[in-house]
Amino acid sequence: MAHVLVRKDLKELAKLYDYISMCTHCGNCKYFYEYGPAENLATASCPQGDKFMFDAYLGSRGKNSIAKGLLSGKLELNQSLIHILYTCTTCGACQQMCETDVKPYILRIIETLRYEALKAGLQPPGAIPRWSAHIKVERNPYMEKHVDRTAWIPSDIKNKLPKKAQYLYFVGCTASYRQKNIALATLRLLLKLGVDVTISEDEWCCGSPLFRTGQWDLAKEFAEHNAQLLDKHGAEAIITTCAGCYRTLVRDYQQDPPEGYKDLLGNIFNAKVLHTMHLIEEMLRKGEIEFEGSLDKVVTYHDPCHLGRHCEVYDPPRNVLKAIPGVKLVEMRRSRQYSYCCAAGGGVRGAYPEYSLSVAADRVREAESTGAEILACVCPFCWRNFTDAINNIGSKMKMMDITEILVDLVKEKRK
Ligand code: SF4
Ligand code: SF4
Repeated sequence: MAHVLVRKDLKELAKLYDYISMCTHCGNCKYFYEYGPAENLATASCPQGDKFMFDAYLGSRGKNSIAKGLLSGKLELNQSLIHILYTCTTCGACQQMCETDVKPYILRIIETLRYEALKAGLQPPGAIPRWSAHIKVERNPYMEKHVDRTAWIPSDIKNKLPKKAQYLYFVGCTASYRQKNIALATLRLLLKLGVDVTISEDEWCCGSPLFRTGQWDLAKEFAEHNAQLLDKHGAEAIITTCAGCYRTLVRDYQQDPPEGYKDLLGNIFNAKVLHTMHLIEEMLRKGEIEFEGSLDKVVTYHDPCHLGRHCEVYDPPRNVLKAIPGVKLVEMRRSRQYSYCCAAGGGVRGAYPEYSLSVAADRVREAESTGAEILACVCPFCWRNFTDAINNIGSKMKMMDITEILVDLVKEKRK
């Protein structure tokens, strides 16, 4: 395999050596570009590179060079690399643009670099150590108590939720503890539409922040707990409103792992997982949803990286928005696979809040440039970062989860 020294102590990174070697250093991963009759796009893609400029920060080329340097012994794994490794939002824009055989492995390589850094005893940045210690005890990264996980559910609804149901709503930590508006809109919407749904008190964090920041041993413990819980519940399908939970349950829990991730946990989970938008889109298609009001607003949609590029779910939220009376959907220049990241993910919001908010502000300005009055999304983590950015820059944009738009407009189904 290798004609150079491959450091065997970097065990996980060494496994990826062949793929890392396939990076041709072409630099395609540094920008979005698409030329042709339908598209004419050439623009920035990497939030990390946009803010920190140097080649090591811009796209995956620099990360592959770091990996090669470490494996060949030319580079030392020391604290000075932490800023480069942890300001990447793991948005996947670089992976989208790469055209060589390293492509499927790019995010895995970035996350493996983080894993090796932590194994070597390096200190992760910002709030990561604090929430990592907390999550082990209270099963959420928000410094909240596990017993309060379902405190957002009003008692009149809680008392009526069945023990078992056709669908289990996997709420996720952000909606349970912070964006309760989205958790509540989702549950109310599903109940209004007559969906047989319930919630488990034993849900733990899906593990997304652990997977993305390289804390795989702990992530595995969380994945195993949730997999057992969901299997035991026996619901026909799991529903998430969070893009991060969706990516984690579908991809990281190995139901449909991307090529670079097939060996990470082994196949631990096989239940059907839907994002809320899949279910609503299907109900609309079957004529099961009636509206009793209209929005009459121009709306633009932000593709969360975890739902879009990571899982290729682009159409369901758009189809749902288009079905809402009075919605005029306009697209941002960077949308679908070319969507620009909100910079909350990959551990970045907790580690580097100012940088994270500055990227989100850039995206809000891009949304403003479409003439939209509402920035719609289907991820509580994007919602939080955009809302904070909107407030910071004094934007008039209104941030809304699509469930928040729907809940007041759909007609209640009579039982
Ligand atoms: S990661 Fe892919 S696109 Fe980027 S430099 Fe390497 S081969 Fe080229
Ligand atoms: S994953 Fe996103 S932030 Fe990280 S290097 Fe790639 S494009 Fe930049």
